[in-house]
Amino acid sequence: MSETLIDVHDLSAGYGGIPVVRNLSISVRAGEVVALLGPNGAGKTTTLLTLSGILQPISGRVDVLGETVSGVKPEKVARRGLSHVAEDRSLFFDLSVKENLRLGLRGDRNERAASMEVALDLFPALAPLVDRRAGLLSGGEQQMLAMARGLASRPRVLLVDEMSLGLAPIIVERMLPIVRRIADETGAGILMVEQHVGLALSVADRGYVLAHGELAMEGTSAELRSNRRLVEESYLGGI
Ligand code: ATP
Repeated sequence: MSETLIDVHDLSAGYGGIPVVRNLSISVRAGEVVALLGPNGAGKTTTLLTLSGILQPISGRVDVLGETVSGVKPEKVARRGLSHVAEDRSLFFDLSVKENLRLGLRGDRNERAASMEVALDLFPALAPLVDRRAGLLSGGEQQMLAMARGLASRPRVLLVDEMSLGLAPIIVERMLPIVRRIADETGAGILMVEQHVGLALSVADRGYVLAHGELAMEGTSAELRSNRRLVEESYLGGI
């Protein structure tokens, strides 16, 4: 079985010492795409922020790539091999596509060139736009750039927060299979927060459903798809 890259046990996390996520245990293995689902305010973003070291856990164990993130600065977690594509995409709008991508690159000159190639290979639509200012890109192109920059450091763990936010469903349908390809081709473990339940489960191996900060359901994508009614009830506060 492949290596466990994210291992969260009994996590409580939140703001100002007040937990908004409680008793959460989740894991992600190398090469897996795992969907983190649940209604607005369920605690999905809070979970990702804790994994990348931006928020400190209140209690519980959070291991990323075999080491704890407690007391570890986000830059150090990133250097270990974690990349976090945030909900706001965090692009530099005045910089070009190429310059934004360069900010994500790591390693020596050859490694940086190879990483740039891999990122542009996964998102060929960006290739003709490399000199354009990021602020002039469409929403879909900006999301591709955020993902490509996240990949430019060749992460072993990729966190993706609401990739589809503000994008037309057709763009989302095009981008989700790329998430699958990233996991298959690079062996990265991907934890993906997504509102489009059906689409997310069409590319994910497994999923967790959060409701009110706690785990309401978990299972393989096939199991969650066949329990679609229960998954949807969790969104309506039924479970
Ligand atoms: P969404 O889809 O709306 O982003 P989510 O599942 O990602 O939902 P979180 O953003 O993790 O949910 O928020 C969980 C809870 O924590 C919400 O009640 C939210 O109001 C609260 N919260 C989020 N950020 C902060 C903050 N900086 N300070 C205090 N409370 C916060």
